[in-house]
Amino acid sequence: MRTWKCPACGQTEEISYDWLAARGGPVCGQCDHDMELQPEATAIEYAAVVDRLADKADDNGLEAEDIDELVHELAASVAADVNNGGLDEQLRYLVDGLGAQYAERQLNELIENRVDRRREGE
Ligand SMILES: [Zn+2]
Repeated sequence: MRTWKCPACGQTEEISYDWLAARGGPVCGQCDHDMELQPEATAIEYAAVVDRLADKADDNGLEAEDIDELVHELAASVAADVNNGGLDEQLRYLVDGLGAQYAERQLNELIENRVDRRREGE
């Protein structure tokens, strides 16, 4: 579910992804304006959700290792998307995650190994 808001009259509506996929962006029921998608959650709401889920996991006897599998699955699907995105996408991801300097150092290592392998092949 995401929240949409009418920019003209301030009317808000909760709309599911299925509804959106079938019908596109909603129109305000009050004044016929196209409604605007609101940001998913503020940082404070986000922290509150994480706290609530952590409490729930804790109360129900889940530990960090019980969540491992979910994290691995998500990370693997992110990695697959990045790798399918080609060189630019891969390097953007590495610079975001590792910082520019370290990403370049890693890249330099790959380049050196490649040069070494070519020399061995000659
Ligand atoms: Zn409206």
